Amino acid sequence: MRPDRAKVKPPAELIPQHIHATVAATARQAGETTPMKGMMQHRPLRIIDILLHAAEAFADQGILSAHDTGEIHSQSYPQTLARAARAAHTLRALGVAEGDRVATLAWNGHRHLELYYAISGMGAVCHTLNPRLPADQLGYIIRHAEDSVLCVDASLLPVAEALRDALPAGLRVIVLADAGAVPDSPLDALCYEELLQGQPATFDWPHLPEDTASGLCYTSGTTGHPKGALYSQRSTVLHALTVPLAQTSSFVAGRRMMPVVPMFHVNAWGLPYTAPLTGMTLVMPGPHLDGASLWRLMEDTHVYSSWGVPTVWAGLLSEITAQGRAPSGFRDLIVGGSAAPPSMIEAYEGYGVTVSQAWGMTEMSPIGTHGMIPPPLQDAPLDRQMPIKTSAGRRKFGLEFKIVDDHGTAMPHDGTATGELYVRGNTVISGYFRNDQASAAAMDAAGWFGTGDVASITAEGQLVIRDRAKDLVKSGGEWISSIDLENAAISHPSIQACAVIAVPHPKWDERPVLVVVPQGDARPTLAEIHAHIAPHFAKSPLPDDLLFVDELPLTATGKISKLSLRAQFADYVLPDLREGTA
Ligand code: AMP
Repeated sequence: MRPDRAKVKPPAELIPQHIHATVAATARQAGETTPMKGMMQHRPLRIIDILLHAAEAFADQGILSAHDTGEIHSQSYPQTLARAARAAHTLRALGVAEGDRVATLAWNGHRHLELYYAISGMGAVCHTLNPRLPADQLGYIIRHAEDSVLCVDASLLPVAEALRDALPAGLRVIVLADAGAVPDSPLDALCYEELLQGQPATFDWPHLPEDTASGLCYTSGTTGHPKGALYSQRSTVLHALTVPLAQTSSFVAGRRMMPVVPMFHVNAWGLPYTAPLTGMTLVMPGPHLDGASLWRLMEDTHVYSSWGVPTVWAGLLSEITAQGRAPSGFRDLIVGGSAAPPSMIEAYEGYGVTVSQAWGMTEMSPIGTHGMIPPPLQDAPLDRQMPIKTSAGRRKFGLEFKIVDDHGTAMPHDGTATGELYVRGNTVISGYFRNDQASAAAMDAAGWFGTGDVASITAEGQLVIRDRAKDLVKSGGEWISSIDLENAAISHPSIQACAVIAVPHPKWDERPVLVVVPQGDARPTLAEIHAHIAPHFAKSPLPDDLLFVDELPLTATGKISKLSLRAQFADYVLPDLREGTA
């Protein structure tokens, strides 16, 4: 018998207020006083539906996951769904409730993917932690997020142990390891596979309002503490739906997609969602991201498309050159995080791999643009396509861009006018997680998010990133805060004033150099400065060189002008790149 539809009303809390408001407004426009009858159903967007869909529609696809040992673990999407259900039961048994933050400290692998779906599927928030961050930042982030559980790869357990004193009381630690394979640890850690054993393979995934928080990723800025971008079920699903719509050549059902961009950085650019959604198998590289390891894995698993930052692609290119060919079947490369150098694009294209750029930010879920060649140029030779390939690309559906001058006035999209890029859309933050001050600084009065990038936009909608408005140094795909370095260095007795600028490096993209006004006749050595500031940082951010000046250029408002400083040292070459030293 059919149910009496009048009696099957969804509970009121499942219909967010803004939906009520929209329906009511539409009805008012139509002259009705109550919501119009006969409209489409409203089903809130849920992340778990991506995996439920893949398990049914693409049951022959799944995940190939490279372990530390070199062994490749394989599991289908139906198996992944069942393991996500077991993981959700496990977390619930540990007391995780809707809205709780569950942290992950893990490489790209099948267990990490299961947790993505288990955590957000049960209504909790998947908080990805970057193991490369310094311990004090990691400790701050975990406490700020108030994580209740930490899921950590066995190989990263020492990173968690180093945070022991900073971890919130009551935080439970789960090691993502086989039964019986959890190393001895002072953290009283539980074993993931032992916890999953005996748990049911299905879970009653809750029907959450679509603006339920689902993921959290912190980004380091120029000043202050890292700031959290809090994703929702809705923003994540919309991002997953719109990325393949823009970058159509990368997503082909039945082919293999390898995110080299880590799952701890902006959800690996959303690929753990877009790949199952489009029927692709994910190849997860684990911790070994050097060129030779990637080449071998791609060759063995027939990767078609791969996404990541330029430093990784420089390593793979060396291996391709040594091998004399690209891995078989590798046809599509997406570069993001930093601009792709033209020479790199040309080299890959020469090996039969099509290169596109994507530009975006942690605060944008992250993809903002796609670099696919517009139809009129699709059959053109590479030299005519290069201006497109070396730019950031065109905007993804659902986003709006504006560039503004120093007074906030919108500039024309004519390819020449340059200004700070502002964005808005359903996949952009409305502010930072629990950080009103940073939110107020990032958003303009009309609700646009200021990216901090300086850009121009052509009449055809092509975005060109000209510079970064702020002065972060990006080394090996990681941000280095110039202000943090300056703050550490300035306390040295021989330094009167100092500023950090970024200097290009072919392997790391950029390295920091410290420009110093010395105290009197003092001339501190680089080694002395390293020894002074090293306790504040992990190894990578230490400056590569010291440059002495009489004074630092200032802006009209009395701040150090990094722009002038960069111009002053435009011809400077880092010591390890000088002739005869490389
Ligand atoms: P993150 O939030 O760490 O992903 O870094 C975002 C920043 O990386 C952007 O604001 C840009 O400055 C830079 N970025 C990302 N993609 C590109 C790209 N394709 N070209 C140039 N810069 C990029």
